[in-house]
Amino acid sequence: MKTRVIVLDRKDLKREQFSEAARLLKRGELVAFPTETVYGLGGNALDPKASEKIYAAKGRPSDNPLIVHIADVNDLAKLAEDIPECAYRLAKRFWPGPMTMILKKRDIVPKETTGGLDTVAIRFPSDKIARMMIEESGLFIAAPSANASGRPSPTNADHVYEDLNGRIPMILDGGPVQIGLESTIIDLTGEKPLILRPGYITAEQLREILPDAAYDPAILAEKPSEALHPKAPGMKYRHYAPKGQLTIYEGTLADVTQAVRAAAEEKKAQGFQVAILASEETKGCYEGFPVCSLGSRDDEDAVAAHLFDTLREFDHMGADYIFGECFRSEGVGSAIMNRLLKAAGYHIVRV
Ligand code: AMP
Ligand code: MG
Repeated sequence: MKTRVIVLDRKDLKREQFSEAARLLKRGELVAFPTETVYGLGGNALDPKASEKIYAAKGRPSDNPLIVHIADVNDLAKLAEDIPECAYRLAKRFWPGPMTMILKKRDIVPKETTGGLDTVAIRFPSDKIARMMIEESGLFIAAPSANASGRPSPTNADHVYEDLNGRIPMILDGGPVQIGLESTIIDLTGEKPLILRPGYITAEQLREILPDAAYDPAILAEKPSEALHPKAPGMKYRHYAPKGQLTIYEGTLADVTQAVRAAAEEKKAQGFQVAILASEETKGCYEGFPVCSLGSRDDEDAVAAHLFDTLREFDHMGADYIFGECFRSEGVGSAIMNRLLKAAGYHIVRV
């Protein structure tokens, strides 16, 4: 299959630029598109065959459900039932935006889309291109991140092309995404609201609306264990991973930089290609090694925006071993550290 890339100018978007994408989607085909979080791989959420195509194109396990994207809050009730009142308060505060709600699904949503679950994940993205594409198609769009399963999520159209060229008919290229981390997922189907995935909307922000919102214990666990089943099935898989082995060092910055340097020196002496994941403040500590900086520790938005791109960069560098510094784990930092630890397959060294 030939993959067409349609480059869009955000300052000059026209309805007719989406007609081809809308036609493909209505025919049950897939279109990759930007959202404010990461690029998504979209298909008609109510068409089981389209969802199957999404799983096939990504190589994603079919028990890992998809998020359904809408472009109008009123559509919530078309997809979900028994919607608690707090869902509307969350929507009012955070939509359109990087927050996904889990609700009881209506029968029209096929189990192929929800990975066999009776619940459905719904999000109203703020990205203009995503919204125009959804509106033009007149559909609800099921879309996981547009990466090959297990790889870092795509934050620009080149990443999507790298993973899915020849597997999907179209990519809408809207340039680099704004946030760079996937949405925060909150489950409203249990007794207490549960945060299933940390994201750009922080737990503190959610608690302004839902004071009793708590993290799924499996998210807080340092290492996923058999005993703790994450409620978001996707969180149990190895994810976001570069090809080389990433190890994250935790401790004071002085101890961390020293330990990272020592580990890098040891592997380099053994003849391996090593690389270092650092910050603007610390990148000078690693002279003689290839270093990727995620940005300044004072600018978490920049760190979030560079994370997945940097993880892919290590593959281009051919790194066998990557040694990385930890980052702050409060606020948006909790999402950054969650993705980093998953990318590292929970290889963590405390110093
Ligand atoms: P992705 O779109 O690639 O970011 O993945 C979607 C995430 O949402 C995965 O981690 C899924 O496990 C999670 N998810 C989607 N639907 C549900 C659901 N009904 N219940 C729990 N988690 C869900
Ligand atoms: Mg994903």
